[in-house]
Amino acid sequence: QWIYLNGQYVTKENAKISVYDHGFLYGDGIFEGIRIYSGNIFKLKEHLNRLYDSAKSIMLQIPLSLEQMQEALVETVRRNGLRDGYIRLVVSRGPGNLGLDPLRCPEAFVIIIVEELSIYPEEAYENGLVSVSVSQRRNVPDALNPKIKSLNYLNNVLVKIQANNAGVGEAIMLNSQGYVAEGSSDNIFIVKNGVVYTPPCYVGALEGITRGAIMELCGKLGLPLKEEPFTLHDVYVADEAFFTGTAAEVIAVREVDGRTIGSGKAGPITTRLLQEFRQIVTVDGVQ
Ligand code: PLP
Repeated sequence: QWIYLNGQYVTKENAKISVYDHGFLYGDGIFEGIRIYSGNIFKLKEHLNRLYDSAKSIMLQIPLSLEQMQEALVETVRRNGLRDGYIRLVVSRGPGNLGLDPLRCPEAFVIIIVEELSIYPEEAYENGLVSVSVSQRRNVPDALNPKIKSLNYLNNVLVKIQANNAGVGEAIMLNSQGYVAEGSSDNIFIVKNGVVYTPPCYVGALEGITRGAIMELCGKLGLPLKEEPFTLHDVYVADEAFFTGTAAEVIAVREVDGRTIGSGKAGPITTRLLQEFRQIVTVDGVQ
């Protein structure tokens, strides 16, 4: 396995960063998770746009142009010889001194890791996940603006811990007003009376690339879609619910906080969207 470490390709054992890296010391940096399907990097442009937007927002100068970054990603995938997998792209503020001032870090540091990935068994896509709502709140819009995919993931880690404690794969986070925001690393959708709903990002959700792809698919398939805030009550009484994310793809939710959602397995619209999604992933990408 070859890892891109700031311009060099090194083995996993040799892929090391400085203890003075501000990504490590302060969570000062940004990242992307990207899928490779049949040798294609899925939605690469969208991921790179989000990365460079996150960088601009936190005043982080990425040392590679967008084209150079694309080349580095393609080359790292090529060297690892993976047809299907996952790319973790990290840009940290880079090594500096102690003290959180980014001016102490002369240059950002770029890491690209390519790995195999499987998070849920196929059975989960048919039967759906059990989920719970958690007490962590996705606050908007503060320094941890959900639109910035920053290395500050402690809030999400705490959501994952609550999910683990409840014995479930993904949990639901509300915002401070009590509206449903997203999961620990997935966006959320519900379906009611044939209409697909997802919270607008201002409620406190990352503008997920998979979310965007599903919204596009709804348009193509003629499924009515509404981006509007909803509460846990709406999730409990929904006909269908599902999470979307780069790693999870489109995964049905069969139970939330002890309430069975719809039929208690992946509903027809969720199943259709997953099938259509799996059709587009192999064609919509950069080789
Ligand atoms: N929400 C959060 C907090 C995430 O970290 C992710 C993962 O990237 C998502 C949602 C899903 O976004 P995407 O579909 O771009 O992977």
